[in-house]
Amino acid sequence: MIFINPHGAPELACDHCGCRWVDRLKGKACCYECGEEISDDAIAEFQRAAVEYAATHSPPAAG
Ligand SMILES: [Zn+2]
Repeated sequence: MIFINPHGAPELACDHCGCRWVDRLKGKACCYECGEEISDDAIAEFQRAAVEYAATHSPPAAG
């Protein structure tokens, strides 16, 4: 799931317990709290949200 922090920025959170302590190993992400794997869908959704947030909240990065 995606959590939106008080600044409006998206954070990746666990689908199972909702915590935001995610251990991102190579190619995989697991929740620190309950140990469940974060789904690829959730990661993809987070990445889209992060790109969207960056596009609307910061000037374009040089390079
Ligand atoms: Zn969890």
